[in-house]
Amino acid sequence: MTPNAPTPPAANFIHQIIDEDNASGKHGGRVQTRFPPEPNGYLHIGHAKSICLNFGTALKYGGKCNLRFDDTNPVKEDIEYIESIQEDVRWLGFQWDGLYYASDYFEQLYEWAVQLVKKGKAYVCDLSAEEVSKTRGTLTKPGTESPYRNRSVEENLDLFQRMKAGEFPDGARTLRAKIDMASNNINLRDPVMYRILHATHPHVGDKWCIYTMYDWAHGQSDSIEKITHSICTLEFEIHRPLYDWFIQELGIFAPRQIEFARLNLTYTVMSKRRLLELVKNQYVHGWSDPRMPTIRGLRRRGYTPEAIRAFCERIGVARNDSTIEMVWLEDALREDLNKRAERRMAVLKPLKVVLTNYPDGQTEELEAINNPEDEKAGTRKAPFSKVLYIERDDFMENPPKKYFRLGPGREVRLRYAYFIKCVEAIKDASGEITELHCTYDPATRGGNAPDGRKVQGTIHWVSAAHAISAEVRLYDHLFVKPDADDVPEGQDWRANLNPNSLQVVTDAKLEPSLKDVKIGDKVQFERLGYFCVDEDSKPEALVFNRAVTLKDTWAKEQKKG
Ligand code: ATP
Ligand code: MG
Repeated sequence: MTPNAPTPPAANFIHQIIDEDNASGKHGGRVQTRFPPEPNGYLHIGHAKSICLNFGTALKYGGKCNLRFDDTNPVKEDIEYIESIQEDVRWLGFQWDGLYYASDYFEQLYEWAVQLVKKGKAYVCDLSAEEVSKTRGTLTKPGTESPYRNRSVEENLDLFQRMKAGEFPDGARTLRAKIDMASNNINLRDPVMYRILHATHPHVGDKWCIYTMYDWAHGQSDSIEKITHSICTLEFEIHRPLYDWFIQELGIFAPRQIEFARLNLTYTVMSKRRLLELVKNQYVHGWSDPRMPTIRGLRRRGYTPEAIRAFCERIGVARNDSTIEMVWLEDALREDLNKRAERRMAVLKPLKVVLTNYPDGQTEELEAINNPEDEKAGTRKAPFSKVLYIERDDFMENPPKKYFRLGPGREVRLRYAYFIKCVEAIKDASGEITELHCTYDPATRGGNAPDGRKVQGTIHWVSAAHAISAEVRLYDHLFVKPDADDVPEGQDWRANLNPNSLQVVTDAKLEPSLKDVKIGDKVQFERLGYFCVDEDSKPEALVFNRAVTLKDTWAKEQKKG
């Protein structure tokens, strides 16, 4: 499938703000955004929303978007994540203008911190982390001032310099902004700017033993890059006054922070901490497990960048938190693959069918349509012979009403082939059906009867002599509850994990045209769903993932159960 390029997103409230700024000539019409991941995990579908928004906005306004690693916490960060994030952003179809690291700004941030100390706007505090948090007060009670708050500028400069030089152990001192311990906004109660941490950083190595806190690094990094609109999720709204305070005190370029609602999805979790736990405790097979909401999990599952972008576009950008139904994501993939994936026949639970009146040793090549949605996809030949496989579920010995498939004495259409009629079901000693004996009607070649007789069901099949075997992995929701975090009293969130989220079919039978598929190829197995060739696949041992069923079967199953 040829990739499609991203298109500019529809207008949203952020674009209204940008339009106003452009109208007032605030930045001379310049639009500069950034996507600022912390390299402490793999990107997930929530990040995709932020990526589409930031890169899409730049695309819409002919602006620029940077990729910036917000790498201020060396303990949790890793080069592995730095690389995977770049790969995932590119895979989604976006290319950044500048690639930056907050850690590249450490020197500048340090100088700016010294500037604030000199202005009497920051001080070195000897309280422990615990004491700082105890004296911060609550929503209803003001905090208490640190006994170190009124140190002289000289003493502060000396101590801060010595913090940087490595003279003190981890946690011994912090640098705090001197704002207002009685502020209604707890973030303004003398927030910590630097802490001492003797750790090796994945990008700048051992150069630093003081590390900045998020709030001190983020806005200043935005300012250095001349970001015009700093788009972030709602939990940072309450940090905005601090964001603006730092910028104002320094008198540097002022980006505008705008918050939007983060994406939550049903039947999954999205916090990196939880995803890491799933990986570490082997509830899933790594970050790229096709059940994970990570970009690499979705990619391996069979998701396309086009489907993910269409999903992000469809859910829109709002200012209120909400949870999106997983079926929206699945529908976006169905729609994309319906247009672009070729159809093939595959049987997951094979039942042998012998056509008693079909000539021994004969093979025919029947014409099959590759994609009814796309004429250009053309046709292929599907071999047909005396012994076939059909889906075990397509036969019932005592079919109920409304079951239109095969049963004793019943006639159905084999897709692209003939009408067949079931004469006898052969059973083994235990009573299990081992094969069906059927007759075929040679006059119905191609799927229609010249006498105008109708059949109600059409089923798929593969020729036994020509079939290739494959492993097929059937995935379902990772959690059994829409709200994965909703657990009974006294149990943790893992109680909601779906024990049947992966079922493996070891000996599916596929039509032979599938023998040359490559890792990542996507096809529709007729009547079953969309499937993607897994990275474990080898030419002699194919492995497919079910990306998504043709319809939302989950809702139906839940009602039944
Ligand atoms: P952490 O769990 O480490 O706090 P995070 O989810 O905040 O991680 P970051 O790497 O800091 O992840 O996120 C990078 C960007 O992606 C941020 O701008 C963040 O607001 C955005 N983002 C993260 N999760 C979501 C989400 N679920 N929906 C929309 N945007 C998100
Ligand atoms: Mg974060």
